[in-house]
Amino acid sequence: TLVITGATGQLGTLVIDALLERGVPAANIVGTGRNEQRLAALGARGIRTAVADYSDGAALERAFAGAEAVLLISGSEVGQRVAQHATVIDAAKTAGVARLVYTSAPHATTSALILAPEHKATEELIAASGIPATILRNGWYTENYAGALDQAASGEIVASVGDGLVASASRADYAEAAAIALADPSHVGQVYELSGDVAWTHAELAAVAAELLGHSVAYRSLTPEQHLAALEQAGLDAGTAGFVVALDGNIRDGLLAETNGELARLLGRPTTPLRDGLAAGRETLA
Ligand code: NDP
Repeated sequence: TLVITGATGQLGTLVIDALLERGVPAANIVGTGRNEQRLAALGARGIRTAVADYSDGAALERAFAGAEAVLLISGSEVGQRVAQHATVIDAAKTAGVARLVYTSAPHATTSALILAPEHKATEELIAASGIPATILRNGWYTENYAGALDQAASGEIVASVGDGLVASASRADYAEAAAIALADPSHVGQVYELSGDVAWTHAELAAVAAELLGHSVAYRSLTPEQHLAALEQAGLDAGTAGFVVALDGNIRDGLLAETNGELARLLGRPTTPLRDGLAAGRETLA
């Protein structure tokens, strides 16, 4: 069987869609998560499911029993993920899982990206486990900019990324790549730096937003200090505002800009353009 942790999340659900589309029988797929309602929805599609928190080693071990490969989708609780991922990796080791696939971040072991340290630590834990693995260093999701599109309804997009480039791809692109890596053992030992084919500026993001919304949208470039003040004024707590501004700084520094074609090569097709990724998100919401 192929196990997907975080199967209840947005990426995990798309990975399962991609596996089924590629002809993997539903009965050979195991999805784990915490949200029982979403697990039940997967179960209704013939997928085997198990409730397994990333801190519950025994439940994870049961879910992993007899698995050929486990896709560890990085958790969403920033700050707690190293301990959680360690528990998942230990359970995979104990269960005798043959292969691991992990969703990491661009150049996780060397990057100054504020999210990199937990991914670096996880990659090191995977290497230390000795389980043959594939590392998918996923770049930014286009869907991260759904909020910018909402903001653009006001006529402007405000950020402190300067002229920084973002080589985003759609979540579905990364999910399909994960399905490919999970189903095919020939990817063992690879570390893939995955990103969109095209890197765009926020001025270009504003232009795409204008096209989708049918009115003019400008990009207003703020200094980090101005951005922080604007976010706090809008009601964000200091920690969250600082996090957003730090990520914009990472973008300004070019840490999410790489376009090396690896995702397109893995998929055997171009990645989804910014406009299509944003438009698809709007359709899903509609
Ligand atoms: P979601 O928030 O939609 O899904 C997160 C998944 O992780 C859910 O299935 C959730 O399970 C599961 N999860 C989180 N914590 C635990 C835990 N303690 N125990 C068990 N399961 C847990 O995120 P996405 O699907 O959009 O993205 C997947 C991951 O990619 C994120 O978790 C994050 O690490 C990373 N990410 C990457 C981005 C990028 O641009 N590259 C942007 C955003 C996130 P449940 O809901 O059942 O509790």
